[in-house]
Amino acid sequence: MAAETHTVTHAHDPSALRDQAVRAAVGQGLLDREPVVCLLDVAGIRASAAALADAFAAAVAPGTPVLHTFAVKAAPLVPVLRLLAGAGIGCEVASPGELALARAAGVPAERTVLDSPAKTPAELREALALGIAVNADNRQELERLDALVAAAPTRSPLGLRINPQTGAGAIDALSTATATSKFGFPLRDPGARERLVRDFLERPWLTRLHTHSGSQGVPLSLIAEGVRELHALAEEINAAAGERRIDTLDIGGGLPVNFTSDEHTPGWAAYVDALRAAAPALFDGSYGLVTEFGRSLLAKHGLVLARVEYTKVTGGRPIALTHAGVQLATRTVYAPAAWPLRILAYDAKGAPRTGVPVAQDIAGPACFAGDLLATARELPELAPGDVIAVPDTGAYFFTAHYGYNSLPRPAVHGFTADGPGGAIRFALARPAQSLAEIVAEAGGAFGDALL
Ligand SMILES: *Cc1c(COP(=O)(O)O)cnc(C)c1O
Repeated sequence: MAAETHTVTHAHDPSALRDQAVRAAVGQGLLDREPVVCLLDVAGIRASAAALADAFAAAVAPGTPVLHTFAVKAAPLVPVLRLLAGAGIGCEVASPGELALARAAGVPAERTVLDSPAKTPAELREALALGIAVNADNRQELERLDALVAAAPTRSPLGLRINPQTGAGAIDALSTATATSKFGFPLRDPGARERLVRDFLERPWLTRLHTHSGSQGVPLSLIAEGVRELHALAEEINAAAGERRIDTLDIGGGLPVNFTSDEHTPGWAAYVDALRAAAPALFDGSYGLVTEFGRSLLAKHGLVLARVEYTKVTGGRPIALTHAGVQLATRTVYAPAAWPLRILAYDAKGAPRTGVPVAQDIAGPACFAGDLLATARELPELAPGDVIAVPDTGAYFFTAHYGYNSLPRPAVHGFTADGPGGAIRFALARPAQSLAEIVAEAGGAFGDALL
């Protein structure tokens, strides 16, 4: 109970909890063993899971089945999947590896959805044997499902992923509903809609429609437009079938995250409002709903801490050489304009650094010039031994490791406060990759293979 009170207290001031966690991490020596560690705010993740469930529970007609799944690619860590499972959230998986993680976390088949664009026959067969929901991406995959369904009965709910072709958001690489996107069955190509209706009429076992219009950078109105198209197609198919053939709409994920402050905006309430505005009948209980959020559940609850190893001034520019770089912020390093991150400065004891802001480059440890988390960023001047914190990194950053320079995957610790203002407790959720593991994964056991 005390822990919950504490969460509420900090919910109003996330920076206070973060400062406390940084001080505790430094004080408890987490950065003595390794120069970079990653933290996850366990209570924060629980609070986001509850906020998601509440936003939909408040919107749907009583009795509407709603399954929230977590897009595993956002944070593929078994302890995270199990934490979310405890909050009733299943898994959206898109590879055999992600399915293995979901199963290792104990997520049941009924709460698992398989969505990838290039599923092999073996993957499809396993998913149908397990009873996992599958959304087929394309016509050739649908033909594979035809054969599998004819060969053996399955409990798997089966659907098609639709590309509503509603257009791109601000980040092309993350926009999945463009006219030529690689994902799903196109809806607006000539003849496509009629063909889709026929596909459903010919296959009584096809009961779901799925769409996911994209991630960060896609405005809520565009996501909602895609869902409106999905709902309209379901109504058309059901009218043609003369029954409620489609019983479930999987509306994907994609709620963007605010990377510029501690505010959780836009949030699920705004998302639900946008859906209600675009497709008023969506929540009337005619369809069960599945969601697949990733970034919005985890991003705000992750924090990277890294030691400043050296500082220098080059061409008049102060540069801090730290241990956080491309290995854990790959998108920021390669596409800095699309993926800006905040950087917070702490001293060697983990206290917030004060002082006149100076424009500094925050560099990572990798051997290429572009390995910068921030350029000309105004921060109190950093010194060797200081610590930088990089908030909002709980999804797609340190959980999507990039093995450049054989830099190890850093450790991930969950943290929880013992009551209001109480001590911070850390729990190791993933150890740092060891040098032995790096050698093994680099073919260490096959040293003579090319001789
Ligand atoms: C990546 C992905 C998601 C999750 O997207 P977020 O922006 O992290 O919410 C959901 N569904 C599918 C099919 C995806 O590819």
